[in-house]
Amino acid sequence: MIRMELGKNSYNIELERGNLNRVSELLNLDRKVMIITDEGVPIQYAEKIAKQSKEAYIKVVPQGEGSKSLQTAEEILTDMLKYQFSRKDCVVAVGGGVVGDLGGFVASLYMRGVDFYNIPTTLLAQVDSSIGGKTAVNLAGIKNIIGAFYQPKAVLIDPDTLDTLPERQLVNGLFEAIKMGATNDKELFDLFLNDEWKDNLDLIIEKALLVKKYVVEQDEKESHLRKILNFGHTIGHGFESAAHGRYLHGECVALGMLYMSSEEVQEQLCEIYENLGFELPEFYSFNLEEVKEAILHDKKASNSNCSVVYVSEIGKGSIEEWPMEAVLERLEF
Ligand code: NAD
Ligand code: ZN
Repeated sequence: MIRMELGKNSYNIELERGNLNRVSELLNLDRKVMIITDEGVPIQYAEKIAKQSKEAYIKVVPQGEGSKSLQTAEEILTDMLKYQFSRKDCVVAVGGGVVGDLGGFVASLYMRGVDFYNIPTTLLAQVDSSIGGKTAVNLAGIKNIIGAFYQPKAVLIDPDTLDTLPERQLVNGLFEAIKMGATNDKELFDLFLNDEWKDNLDLIIEKALLVKKYVVEQDEKESHLRKILNFGHTIGHGFESAAHGRYLHGECVALGMLYMSSEEVQEQLCEIYENLGFELPEFYSFNLEEVKEAILHDKKASNSNCSVVYVSEIGKGSIEEWPMEAVLERLEF
């Protein structure tokens, strides 16, 4: 168990294989429970939780980013009202970052906030999105633009759920762990420098969580240090947006990290990508103007400077302010 220390918002992160079979011992499910999952998540996970709850309702939303919408949130809130949920009842998200972000968002709103439990079942959600309290939905095509910082009451991770996750999704999540290793933890990074990473999944999850815990505890609302978790994301988002769904988020971050690293770090990243059997998105398959436009669009709200994370040495990422032109110039490398 890892304890996230955030004063009155502190919570436990339960990490152990088989946790799904003892949810009722670890979480308070002796009440009404709104379980949110999506069509791609094996339904037995939600059912296991329902069986251990006093009065459970399972809401299955469509797979994918489209479910992070005000409309889906409204549907769930309407159901909670219909089933007469009170302030003392709770919401449980079972799935990847999509249902986690949506579930946390809904929980933050119902009666000004009910308890939220996150049970992440993708690697990306287990190492990154399920902890830290960022909840959000998308609006008018802009990702995560509506949301709140709302910490879960507990996070329950059962690495056994990764058995059903397609390999591409697994590797997609690993890039977030590699990101945390590159910026904050050389030991974590080094776990990827051989082809035994699959045997080390539990350790990878734990170490990535410890990095995220360290960062979030010091900067819950992302005023500075938490920006370190954006390594690879500024340029990565540009590629992601220009990829129009051809590549996953983590895959674009993998590419993005290369642009913000020293040559020595780039070499190690490439070695890792090879160990993962991962082929980088083909740079030439992107419309560069579109990538640049997306980066500019992302940063429009701030100013002509841009906070970026640069890694010159593994484990030592730094947050720097660069003029926007300097960021775009990196793309010419
Ligand atoms: P996702 O939630 O869409 O899950 C990926 C796919 O895996 C889905 O199709 C899902 O149905 C399927 N799936 C989930 N668990 C499975 C399992 N155990 N077995 C088989 N299939 C399974 O995507 P994701 O990569 O987990 O999360 C991406 C989302 O997370 C984005 O919306 C992103 O904005 C958000 N995010 C949030 C934060 C945060 O701090 N809140 C951080 C990073 C990303
Ligand atoms: Zn990310």
